[in-house]
Amino acid sequence: MRSYTIPLVPGPVSVPDAVRAVYAVDYGSADLEEEFFELYERCERKLQHVLGASTQVTIQTGEGMLALWGALKSVVRPGDRVLAVGTGLFGVGIGEMAQQIGAEVEVVEFPFDSIVDPTPVREVARRFRPKLITAVHCETPSGALNPLEELGQISREVDALFYVDFVASGGGVPVDVDRCAIDLGLLGSQKVLSLPPDLSMVTVSERAWEVVEAVNYAGYDALKPWHRGPAQRYLPYTHNWSALAALDVALDLLLTEGMEAVYARHAAVAASCRRALEGMGVRLFPQREEYNSPTVTAAYVPDGWTWPELDRALRIQGMAVGGNYGDLAGKVFRIGHMGSQANAALVERGMEVLRRVLSRTA
Ligand SMILES: *Cc1c(COP(=O)(O)O)cnc(C)c1O
Repeated sequence: MRSYTIPLVPGPVSVPDAVRAVYAVDYGSADLEEEFFELYERCERKLQHVLGASTQVTIQTGEGMLALWGALKSVVRPGDRVLAVGTGLFGVGIGEMAQQIGAEVEVVEFPFDSIVDPTPVREVARRFRPKLITAVHCETPSGALNPLEELGQISREVDALFYVDFVASGGGVPVDVDRCAIDLGLLGSQKVLSLPPDLSMVTVSERAWEVVEAVNYAGYDALKPWHRGPAQRYLPYTHNWSALAALDVALDLLLTEGMEAVYARHAAVAASCRRALEGMGVRLFPQREEYNSPTVTAAYVPDGWTWPELDRALRIQGMAVGGNYGDLAGKVFRIGHMGSQANAALVERGMEVLRRVLSRTA
């Protein structure tokens, strides 16, 4: 096990010292003490601000996938129709998850180096009449950011709930839950928030709560207990007090900097990362700059290198970047510059290492 001096994996991202320190403290019994519930409500208010959400925001124990599964199972029953919009592995994967829980699924799929075109989505939605439309804001494996607002409109036109995975963008890019009419907005702690993979957060609209109550799904990941539980001081399990305390600090770091400044920092670091890669002759994925997410940059493994060789050469220099999955495995690698890693000096050091490593075989 080694510690990397240049951590640039697109999640889990490097945890700042001020946040780590919170985990060293002993806390009380999270399901019984008023102080915990006040902390929970404070975090919820801050999350509403960061996410542009006037809705309730649930905070559950578990890694980001818990939000994806829990929100899906809480509103979808076997036989329900789900329209999954896929421009990447997560978008297509959510369609497969819905299928696994017995939904009738249609996938509107786009090439992984592109973003959503709402026109075919609207056509399929009008014909298919789904109960739920799912989409992914930042497709982390392909480094692309999808527009959400028109998909939100389409969901309203066909009276479907709109489910959005913004795990890898929330906090680093405006997600605007209210403006984009997002009914279920999913966030994990290990991306922009720069916490360990401990918490799953979901914005839940009033329309979504009605469906959650009607479906009445029970399970560890279920949303229903979080509808009235925190207000009634009753939780389905002992919560992770340390993680909530760390979340409170992490949200303060963002809010003190100011969301506009946070967004500008992510955009500037992403732009300089892309420029540096282009300067080295590394081809970006997707190539169109307006598709790229401010939180992660994906690029083709350079000619003359295999991914394992490049990964090994970078790790020897103390730099960790992300590999890939599925069809992109071995072909496209990723630099995660979200949250604590949206740091101009850190990314510049990473680019210097990459430049040195690549020039060695030139
Ligand atoms: C990170 C991430 C998740 C959570 O998945 P893990 O791979 O388990 O961390 C979900 N959706 C997106 C878009 C992500 O980037």
